[in-house]
Amino acid sequence: MDCLFCKIISGDIPSQKVYESETVVAFKDINPQAPVHILIIPKFHIESLAEITEDTVGVTAEIMLVAKQLAQEFSLGNGYRVITNIGDDGGQTVHHLHFHLIGGKKLSEQMC
Ligand code: AMP
Ligand code: ZN
Repeated sequence: MDCLFCKIISGDIPSQKVYESETVVAFKDINPQAPVHILIIPKFHIESLAEITEDTVGVTAEIMLVAKQLAQEFSLGNGYRVITNIGDDGGQTVHHLHFHLIGGKKLSEQMC
């Protein structure tokens, strides 16, 4: 399977990792939209939140805890945003589930 983020997980493509556990990895976005822009992903391939099942939903809870922990680590006490894009209309370009942790500046009030 030709998946960019699976290659980051395997180490075939380099990344700036900021967190890793048995099931989750987080690394800096290559094209940051804010001073802090981190991607948090499950280590197993799943296309998007649209593919989550009862068997795999647990990893999203872990990712939320990692987001909170990284927000503290990167001094985002003034606020931040956690986003996941789903499918073409959602603006998803990499088809491996990922959550953007974005902050470090006053973010746009626009939701879409
Ligand atoms: P999305 O548009 O939600 O699918 O987000 C994909 C994100 O992956 C974008 O913010 C890209 O900048 C980021 N990205 C693409 N390639 C890499 C890479 N090699 N390392 C880190 N982030 C990447
Ligand atoms: Zn993948």
